[in-house]
Amino acid sequence: MIGTTGITVSELCHGTLILGPLQANLTPEQGARAIRRSFDLGVNFYDTAQGYRSYPHLALGLKGVPENRVVIASKSHAASYDDMKAAVEECLKGLGRTYIDIFHLHLIPSTDSLRARQGALDCLIEMKKQRKIRAIGASTHTVAGVRALNAEPAFDVVFPVLNMRGSGIIDGSLEQMLEALQESKHRGKFVYAMKPLGGGHLAAEAERSFRYLRELPQCDAVAAGMKDEAEVEMNVAIFEDQPVADDVKRRVGAVDRKLIVYDRCVSCGLCVEECDQGALTMGKTKAEVDLSKCILCGYCAAVCPEYVIRVV
Ligand code: SF4
Ligand code: SF4
Repeated sequence: MIGTTGITVSELCHGTLILGPLQANLTPEQGARAIRRSFDLGVNFYDTAQGYRSYPHLALGLKGVPENRVVIASKSHAASYDDMKAAVEECLKGLGRTYIDIFHLHLIPSTDSLRARQGALDCLIEMKKQRKIRAIGASTHTVAGVRALNAEPAFDVVFPVLNMRGSGIIDGSLEQMLEALQESKHRGKFVYAMKPLGGGHLAAEAERSFRYLRELPQCDAVAAGMKDEAEVEMNVAIFEDQPVADDVKRRVGAVDRKLIVYDRCVSCGLCVEECDQGALTMGKTKAEVDLSKCILCGYCAAVCPEYVIRVV
């Protein structure tokens, strides 16, 4: 249950970044099959974003499902009131809904950043009054971001990077993140984890990684990117404490995901600025990635003017 909103969600949230052009680049029809499979298996919680460009996949996958049967979370990097209003309207239209359950400020790293996006937050507060959204949240990769959200009563939901290694937390340790999230819970906020497998680094330990998060009192739900029916079936089985069938394991396979920068890079440096994990540097002829730091969020790909970054 999300605070006093009356919204209840499945413990497993279907993350849809992986479906869109920043990652697997599936067609809406391909992505819709994964969405529909998770819905049929009892998932009712879907996470998307303006920048993921996965609204078509989600809309198609949930076609014919009454809007009160699923909980949709979306987000936008908008800073101003008007840009956020446009982002919410785009989401409503793109998903064919009359309301969005949770709308986030996409990536809040600090109190200063939250202040700089006060216009966008004011818009979400107004949208909530108008019942165009039901809850307000923000995503963050930092402990400082969680603390900033804790201090602002308007936030119902906190969406932090969280996994058993602390991978992707930019400004502190896993212990510090858990301490900040303990405070989020104390203040009645709903917390769901992003990057539960560290952007793929923990894929070989999926069962242990998910169990770790499910047992954390600070974590109410877990968003996992799932691009096909096999990944959905595997994760649903894990969340239902069922053994994963051998054929499902075989279909999922041991996919080693990574980020690639193609040679057509023009060395503009925009991706290096965008990466808050410090995983990108400018090499002699193109941007270079340190895969040990990369959490495969795909945000660098979103700003590349040459479209030469791809998570594969
Ligand atoms: S290199 Fe790109 S995909 Fe990897 S963490 Fe940085 S922004 Fe995200
Ligand atoms: S944003 Fe694209 S073109 Fe610019 S440096 Fe990065 S990879 Fe190269």
